[in-house]
Amino acid sequence: MPAPAELGARLAEIEAQGRKRQRRVLEGGQGAHVRVDGCELLSFASNDYLGLANNAELVAETQIAAGRYGVGAGASHLLTGHHALHHRLEEELAAFVGLPAALLFSTGYMANLGVVSALVGRHDAVFADRLNHASLVDAALLSRAQHYRYPHLDLTALDRLLTASAARVKLIATDAVFSMDGDVAPLGELLELAQRHNAWLYVDDAHGFGVLGREGRGILEHAALSTPCPSLIYMATLGKAAGVFGAFVAGSAALIDWLIHKARPYVYTTATPPLLAAAISRSLKLIRAGERRRARLTALIARLKAGTAGLPWRLLPSDTPIQPLIVGENVEAMRLSAALLARGILVPAIRPPTVPLGTARLRISLSAAHSEADIDRLLIALHEIARGD
Ligand SMILES: *Cc1c(COP(=O)(O)O)cnc(C)c1O
Repeated sequence: MPAPAELGARLAEIEAQGRKRQRRVLEGGQGAHVRVDGCELLSFASNDYLGLANNAELVAETQIAAGRYGVGAGASHLLTGHHALHHRLEEELAAFVGLPAALLFSTGYMANLGVVSALVGRHDAVFADRLNHASLVDAALLSRAQHYRYPHLDLTALDRLLTASAARVKLIATDAVFSMDGDVAPLGELLELAQRHNAWLYVDDAHGFGVLGREGRGILEHAALSTPCPSLIYMATLGKAAGVFGAFVAGSAALIDWLIHKARPYVYTTATPPLLAAAISRSLKLIRAGERRRARLTALIARLKAGTAGLPWRLLPSDTPIQPLIVGENVEAMRLSAALLARGILVPAIRPPTVPLGTARLRISLSAAHSEADIDRLLIALHEIARGD
């Protein structure tokens, strides 16, 4: 890490390695077509899977709530920031995912830090899928528990690690839908393992909530888990498919009570504005009634898959809106992303260390806000670039 006098040189190193990050400036609202750095672009780069981030009903609901309750929560939940809108939303979220209780967090990142470090500590162990989101890695580090990372979806390796561990408390942490690959964790088998080893199972459904399941209830509906089990902890974020902001954790009533006392990123932060709770509550209704949006997503995914046949790059086998096109080398991924951008299409290149070496990719993220013509435009551009046009 840099001392004050080294900062400039260290930043120059990052630039020399071609790893300098630039933030794109978005003007106007989120959507399939966005205005970025002064250019109109067709975007495959958001997590707004259902196209709700700029939905007129949600905007109207937010305006009404702002008029009634103001813009700031004013305090943390344990002081005077816990509004009736938050309280009602927690009940709605718990009912929606079919678990006894739920707790709102400001962000998914904070929820992950808060839950993991409230449940495991120095003499305990976290067992994490190698491809989990960075916030789960940080959560394990913060907790000071032993941190084991098993090969992606390798439940045999996980079973072996759990068996060999003498840790007092064990917690398995997994993404439900993996953010860079789009594949789905086998929840039933993971839960069975967790129960057999008397471990917690913590599931991060940031990319499944709103998308998976007939009514968009996420991985739990997708996996058809019928009886809630006390070792299961569910987390979903509300800034992706739900189109708003924030996150929640759901599980047994005792678990939620424990988190209210012990999850420091819950206790020591200001509650999110109640107007967001109003917007999320309305978003839940749109998600539940969003079969048409999800059917559209499914159709767009199929269209993309069919249209990429014959390209020199292949899609990973994903049935979710995250459709990674594996390119391989970093420079090639950057070149492809730049060539698309030159055609007015925004698809981010994802490189190591975010993904394993040699698997640089374009992360194509689909939304119900896309039209079939949008998908076709992307496909035509990819085929042109592949031919060297
Ligand atoms: C986005 C994301 C988070 C973080 O959620 P925020 O609400 O954006 O902080 C956590 N886990 C996964 C898998 C994510 O994709």
